[in-house]
Amino acid sequence: MVSPQLFSQPKTYLITGGAGFIGSHISETLIEQGYRVLAIDNLSTGSLENIRHLLNHPNFHFAYASITDEVVLDRLMSEADVAIHLAAAVGVQLIVEKPVHTIETNVMGMESVLQAAIRYRVKTVIASTSEVYGKGNKVPFVEDDDVVLGPTCRSRWAYAASKMVDEFLALAYYREKGLPVVIARLFNTVGPRQTGQYGMVIPRFVQQALKGDNLSVYGDGRQSRCFVHVVDAVRALLKLAECSEAIGEVFNVGSTEEISILELAQKVIDLTARTAKENESCIDFVPYGKAYAPGFEDMQRRVPDNTKIQQYIDWQPSKSLEEILQDVIDSFTKSKSNQFKI
Ligand code: UDP
Repeated sequence: MVSPQLFSQPKTYLITGGAGFIGSHISETLIEQGYRVLAIDNLSTGSLENIRHLLNHPNFHFAYASITDEVVLDRLMSEADVAIHLAAAVGVQLIVEKPVHTIETNVMGMESVLQAAIRYRVKTVIASTSEVYGKGNKVPFVEDDDVVLGPTCRSRWAYAASKMVDEFLALAYYREKGLPVVIARLFNTVGPRQTGQYGMVIPRFVQQALKGDNLSVYGDGRQSRCFVHVVDAVRALLKLAECSEAIGEVFNVGSTEEISILELAQKVIDLTARTAKENESCIDFVPYGKAYAPGFEDMQRRVPDNTKIQQYIDWQPSKSLEEILQDVIDSFTKSKSNQFKI
């Protein structure tokens, strides 16, 4: 690819949550492609380690600030051509433990990003989540399906509800004020740099297996998920940002390769046994009430229908679950995530 720098000032992307798991991968990809990146992160769940290799790059600028800091956000937005909004409270564990933080971060954060974006009419891609499909049992999930959420006394649903408000708000800015927005509902996205600290199952299982600990399967393990590699999710977000027909639309971004959590645990044990030569890990079944909170409701299946995103940007995931797991195992065993060269 010809570097955009050869012709003019490179196109500038503002990445909120730029030091997070997905944000750091997007930033890295954009820098590799010759773009300028303004990353903002309050390092609440993101980490400087994720972007340390980018910090000295002339096209990368990092602001250690909250997205609700209007002055900083305004300055960054004034220089941006495109914004990708990833900063959010994520991870089921965090949501159950800190519902006030979740709701405030997601709703106020979205509001301040949209208010800044409209001032400069910056195209904004919003990372939403498959959680917004709630307890729907009509799989695969299609973007305009009806939604069934649990009651407000179960704080788990606060995450889905807060992200739905974000989607409503963004679409309202598009319809009422003409702000170009695109919404991407990310399904279980995994890869190097994701931490298991906030409940994400794959890094948790891999770390448990590499330590020889038992793998904590919540419930009976029959619930299933589809996991997409972060590089595929990044490719989708960047293509959506470039697609003018995508403005004002909502897209699923996920894999359709479905696996039960019990089978996933077994696969992780098998794959890490190859790496670690021996693995004595077994499976522990942990009741949901103990893992999260009494009365916790899980989603049984979560499968995206990718027809729409295929039609608009011809996207589909390139990495299989086995490749994803191997990549995560490698990242923990070889600290590969810090070895990317720019
Ligand atoms: N899970 C599990 N053990 C763990 C962490 C998660 O069995 O140590 C289960 C969790 O209950 C859910 C699935 O794995 O059914 C995916 O969880 P994750 O938090 O990664 O994402 P979610 O799909 O809940 O957003």
